[in-house]
Amino acid sequence: MSRLPIEYNVSELSEFDESFVCHICFDTYYKKEVYQCKKGHCYCEECWKESLKNKKECMQCRTQVNSFHELSRNTEVERLLLKTWVHCPYFFRNIIRVDESEKLIEDNSSGCNEIIILEKLDNHIENCSFRFVKCKYHEKGCKDKIRYNQNEIHISKCEYRSLNCKYCSNVYLLKTIEQHYLECPSMLIDCKECNEKIKREEMDKHLDKECQEVIISCKFLQFGCNDKIKRKNLENHFDQTNHTKHFSTAIERLSTTIEHLNIKNNQLSISIKELN
Ligand SMILES: [Zn+2]
Ligand SMILES: [Zn+2]
Ligand SMILES: [Zn+2]
Ligand SMILES: [Zn+2]
Ligand SMILES: [Zn+2]
Ligand SMILES: [Zn+2]
Ligand SMILES: [Zn+2]
Repeated sequence: MSRLPIEYNVSELSEFDESFVCHICFDTYYKKEVYQCKKGHCYCEECWKESLKNKKECMQCRTQVNSFHELSRNTEVERLLLKTWVHCPYFFRNIIRVDESEKLIEDNSSGCNEIIILEKLDNHIENCSFRFVKCKYHEKGCKDKIRYNQNEIHISKCEYRSLNCKYCSNVYLLKTIEQHYLECPSMLIDCKECNEKIKREEMDKHLDKECQEVIISCKFLQFGCNDKIKRKNLENHFDQTNHTKHFSTAIERLSTTIEHLNIKNNQLSISIKELN
């Protein structure tokens, strides 16, 4: 799991005593060497070197300093500074800064609450389980920054996780599967008439040919029976309804049709004979 880089200044992690701050660059002496004039005025190495280029003296007491080598290193200040207690940078939710001027925001609920002695800070940061990592699906498009110890929770609901549709077993991203479920042809859905579970792609056929609760027309509709019956009651309808009238209508119409066909047939026979 790749760790996301963080940027911070230790001065943001604690209140530092003035004696640990260089009064030229206003930075703490953390990871810097401290040098002092004969009277004990301290600045960081870079600031001394920079300032001696302009004037060969201590900025504070004006004591002459001909070269950097006349200064003495103050390892005591360096040592004491490392005994300062600081917040873990992962205490802050926005430690991965988008904008450097952004102020750090505490994360009391899911940030690291440990207070660490400065000399052990790097070691702690390296192993802190609250560190931010990239989502395992970042190449698929997940831009989330996840705390290492929340990775599994995130992955279980990451929109970019792919999973198989449990009906058609095609592969979809979590963020598209809900939409797919609205369309999946293999998904079982309730028949609105009989409540049976039917594959979506077979629903039309089911309603058209099989569903017992669907209301259909009597087979004698074209011969005058306008009754609407549930498919399951069709047999009963034939048993209980007198279709005699409809039968005779049917027979009448059929007779007429046969008559017409006979006439047509005779005409055709005559035409064929003439052709021969
Ligand atoms: Zn400085
Ligand atoms: Zn001085
Ligand atoms: Zn931590
Ligand atoms: Zn993700
Ligand atoms: Zn599906
Ligand atoms: Zn049905
Ligand atoms: Zn009927």
